[in-house]
This record gives sequence, C-alpha cells and structure tokens, in this order.
Amino acid sequence: MLDRSVIRDLERQVDAPHVYVRPADLAAYAYDSWGASGERHLPDAVVFPGSTEEAAGVVEVCAFHEVALIPRGAGTGYAAGAAPMRGGVVVSLARMNRILGIEPDASRIHAEAGVITHAIHERAAKAGLYYPPDPGSSSTCTIGGNVACNAAGPHTMRYGVTADYVAGVTAVLADGSIVRLGEGGDGSLGDLLALITGSEGTLGVITEVLLRLIAAPPARATLAATFSGMEPAATAVAGIAGAGIVPAAIEFLDAGALDAVRRAGGGTLAADGAALVIVELEGAPDDVDTGAGRVRDAATRAGATTVEIAADAAAAQRLWAARKAVSAAVAKVMIGKVNEDVVVPRDRIAELVDFTGTLGERHQLPVVNFGHLGDGNLHATFLIDPRLPGERTRADAAAGDLFDMVLTMGGSLSGEHGVGQAKLPYVERQLGVGGVELMRRIKDAIDPRGVLNPGKKIPQASSAASNDAA
Ligand SMILES: Cc1cc2nc3c(=O)[nH]c(=O)nc-3n(C[C@H](O)[C@H](O)[C@H](O)COP(=O)(O)OP(=O)(O)OC[C@H]3O[C@@H](n4cnc5c(N)ncnc54)[C@H](O)[C@@H]3O)c2cc1C
Repeated sequence: MLDRSVIRDLERQVDAPHVYVRPADLAAYAYDSWGASGERHLPDAVVFPGSTEEAAGVVEVCAFHEVALIPRGAGTGYAAGAAPMRGGVVVSLARMNRILGIEPDASRIHAEAGVITHAIHERAAKAGLYYPPDPGSSSTCTIGGNVACNAAGPHTMRYGVTADYVAGVTAVLADGSIVRLGEGGDGSLGDLLALITGSEGTLGVITEVLLRLIAAPPARATLAATFSGMEPAATAVAGIAGAGIVPAAIEFLDAGALDAVRRAGGGTLAADGAALVIVELEGAPDDVDTGAGRVRDAATRAGATTVEIAADAAAAQRLWAARKAVSAAVAKVMIGKVNEDVVVPRDRIAELVDFTGTLGERHQLPVVNFGHLGDGNLHATFLIDPRLPGERTRADAAAGDLFDMVLTMGGSLSGEHGVGQAKLPYVERQLGVGGVELMRRIKDAIDPRGVLNPGKKIPQASSAASNDAA
C-alpha cells in the first residue's frame, strides 16, 4: 500500500485522472498474456504519463520514495514482464500513442512508445515503405514493448529482429533523467542502444523510438504445404535453403496446433496433414515467381501431401489465418497454458518437436507446437488446467526438461518473448554464473536502488554469488 504522499506526488506529475488507485481499476494491470497460469498481484497504482517529461517526473517520484516501477505497453508479453510482483507503480505508456513523424527520404519513422505496432506498419506502407518486424500480436502490442523485448516475428528469418530497426530511443533512466540515444550523434561512441533494446523495462522507460524503414517489396508469394509429420517438413526447409532461396518467412503448425485451429472453427485446413508449413517470398516479381516454383519443388521432393500457392492477396490472407489464429485457438482447448519460445539450430527443430511429445507423456500434459521454422524458434505449449493440483508444477518440470534439451542442442531459452518472471529461474543455466553476474553489475550501475522492474530478467545476485563462493 502506497503512502498517500506518494500518490499526491504522482498526481502532481500527471494530473489526478491519470493516476489509478482503486482496486477495481488496478485489476487489469495485475497480469499480462502469461497470466492465465501464474499468480496475480495488484499494483498499488497505475500512472499514465502523456509525455517524456511527465514520465521523467513519475520515475523521479518512484526513485525518491524507493517504490518499484513497472513499465507497461499493451501487456501482451508472454513472460510476466509487465506484471507486478509485490505492488509498486505500473507506468502505462498508453497515452503516448502518437506517430511523431515519418521521413520518407531518410526512411525513418519517429513514434511515441505507446503506438500500436500495426499503426507503424500502416503508416510506413502509406509512404511506400516497410517496417518488417511483425510479432503475431502486432494489432495489439506497442512499439515500446517491442523494443523493450526485442520482439521478432515470422519475417525475422529474412529481415532480422526489432533491434535491427531501432535507430534511436528516448528513455527515462532510474533517477528520472532523460537520455536520447542513437542516430544523430553517438554511433561511434559505443552502442548504448543495444543496452536498452531488450532490457525489458529493467534499465529505463522507453518513451520515444526512431525506427529504420526499408523499401516495400514489389511482389510477394505465399505457399502452404502439408506433410505427414515434422521430419519431411524439416527436409523441405533444408531443400529450400539448398536451392539458394531465402524466404521472408517459414512458419509451421504441428498436428496438435492444427487440431486446435480446426476445433476453434478454422475449417478443414490441412485436414490430411500432421504438419502445415507456410512459406512467404518477397522481392522482385521475377525472383518471387522463380522462388515460388523452387519452394513448391522442394516441398514435393520432401513428400508434401499438398502444396498450394495463393493466387491473390485474399488467398494468401486465408493461408496466414491459421497461423495467426493459433494462439487464441490453443487458449480455447484448455483454460491454461505454459507457452515457451525456445530456439535451436533449425535443422534440429523436428527432433525437438519429437522430444516435446516425450515430455508430454513423461509429465502427462497435452503439448502443442508451432512457430517460426525458418529461424528455429519453437513455441512449445504445454496445456494445463491451473485449478487442478499439480498441473502447474508438472508444466514447470516439463519446461525445465525442455530448456535442458535446448541448451544441449546449442539453442536458447527465448527467441523473442524475453525472460520477465517466467524464465528467471533458468537464465543461469544458459549464461552461467559469470554471465548473470555481468548482468547484475550492469543493472546495479544503471539502477543502483533497483527501482525499475525489480525481480524481472536478471536473477538475484545471491544465486550467482553463492555459486561463486562454492
Ligand atoms: C497472440 C500473441 C502473439 C505473439 N506473437 C509474438 C511474436 O510473434 N513475436 C514476439 O516477439 N512476441 C510475440 N508475442 C509477445 C508480445 O506481444 C511481445 O513480447 C511484445 O513485444 C510485448 O509488447 P507489449 O507492448 O504488450 O509489452 P508488455 O507486455 O506491456 O511489456 C513487455 C515487457 O516490456 C517492458 N516494457 C513495455 N513497454 C516498455 C517501455 N515503453 N519502456 C520500457 N519497458 C517497457 C515491460 O516492463 C515488460 O517487461 C505475442 C503475444 C501474443 C499474446
């Protein structure tokens, strides 16, 4: 519970209507998209700054009173990064939702952090330009949240992740000071942008972003192929790479994911397939035509049951609909899910999908897989009913086994969703004691009082220190 004087200080920064303190108003800020299965803790207040200066004032108040501050975009995160752990002040960027300008000649767009990612796509397209990062949540997540999590998406395979498009950020640091990093000055002075990008609200509150845009591709082709299992699907992907084709995206759904989509009303899509692979090609019209033919050949050679090339944009949208519907469809199958986003070298993804089946049997949980096949990013999803005793514990044990296997395969705990609270216990397994200690030192140097999003992303020093001592 916050002291009344803290609330008064916050109201001085943003005006009373932009500070929520009633429990009924706070409830929606107690969780994010990970939340269905986790514990929930109300924040003590939610504050909505309308400018960088107001955000700086809010951070200063939190720093002065040593109150935890949790930055929040749209709350679509899958790692409980925006969910409070023990009260504190949630700082929502929802009011900072203006596109501040687009410079077509410089191929840049400048936006406040609370702008919905899809609005960036639309504004860029209007200028004949393209912003490639396209998380599946792009119609609801914010660009600030994308920068904070270094979001990826289907088109990462060809174009890279959010960090590849961040030219600058304006951020408020833990003492309330404002920094402007990036293009326009500090390129040769060290890559400070890389510190903030992906820091999940632990090093600063991002209030504005400057993004690079690229020329919109003149042509696009979308194909869908069904396979009898993941093994031939992976062979097709190897065949595509062997033919020298770099698609914009290669996505997949396994049998469980396809079943969930069908049950949620997705029709008879891929009715005869145990795996669906969607491939998108972008570029010059001739290259796209030739590429589509080679992708079809590679899929056929690998034993595809069906291959469909979308005849027009509407048909392409229909093919993508299954992929886009999968998260919501899976959520309808069971009331809870533990959704991991591990990464392995892409030639090992079929093996990993197979292993998730073993984990499902070992821990007695249904498992569903889908993801970005092109860059080895697997969304392994264990379905649970959190009301039943032991389900959550078994899912956590399954996730632990999955992470061990992923690390053995030379992969990573997270391809795009970040660490937040959800993956905190596993970070040391990947980074080792030294890596965690380095993170800790960076955090302590930038946020010595631990005000910004405490308990997220960076494991407590004690774990590393005690191991050091051992
Ligand atoms: C259906 C669905 C599909 C998804 N698909 C993808 C996908 O394809 N690729 C992908 O990468 N992710 C995906 N996600 C996860 C999620 O959408 C991304 O992580 C997204 O970047 C989070 O943005 P947000 O605005 O909702 O941030 P939040 O959930 O509000 O916050 C996420 C983290 O960022 C911090 N944060 C947010 N805004 C700021 C800010 N302005 N300054 C500092 N820190 C901040 C928070 O403190 C928190 O730690 C998906 C989620 C859903 C529900």
